[in-house]
Amino acid sequence: MNAEKRHQIFSRLREANPEPTTELNWTTPFELLAAVLLSAQATDVGVNKATARLFPVANTPQAILDLGLDELKSYIKTIGLFNTKAENLLKTCRILVEKHAGEVPATRKELEALPGVGRKTANVVLNTAFGQPTIAVDTHIFRVSNRTGIAKGKNVEEVEQRLLRLTPKEFKQDAHHWLILHGRYTCVARKPRCLSCIIEDLCEFKEKTE
Ligand code: SF4
Repeated sequence: MNAEKRHQIFSRLREANPEPTTELNWTTPFELLAAVLLSAQATDVGVNKATARLFPVANTPQAILDLGLDELKSYIKTIGLFNTKAENLLKTCRILVEKHAGEVPATRKELEALPGVGRKTANVVLNTAFGQPTIAVDTHIFRVSNRTGIAKGKNVEEVEQRLLRLTPKEFKQDAHHWLILHGRYTCVARKPRCLSCIIEDLCEFKEKTE
């Protein structure tokens, strides 16, 4: 795909949604970190339902430590893999309290040192809570990037590196959310909605459907 086309794709996504953001509900960096930790293999809607119960009771690392493991689990038990997630969240809270004065650190290295926090979670937090132009490649972004030709790659790392290199600077901050939302609602996995897609004429996918 040439640079002009890529620019046009992002321009259209921006025109349709000038201020894209995550569909997870959060008000502080810690709430975002906790929500992203809970969101692996779960829907944002499911996570929001659980955090709507949890955050009014405990939305700081210390408050979650005070809840303890069993009570924390009772708030998030509707989410898949909740046992492991509860354990990771508690361990993360302990480190935040002991090493970071209860705050979420704003560097990749410190974030990735937290239990349950991988590159993708760190990218989401750096981008969405701290305004850094990172791009967290999830299954949606991976699919959209490969289908459209914006940034082809065999794995998420390759796609991330290519997106970071090829996305025009003015779109980098929000590219992550535009591509996720496009993948979630239009360029869906099984039958992409190409007829109602706003970048259909620019997309290089060969098997367009619907
Ligand atoms: S035209 Fe189809 S394949 Fe291309 S981005 Fe749109 S929905 Fe996805």
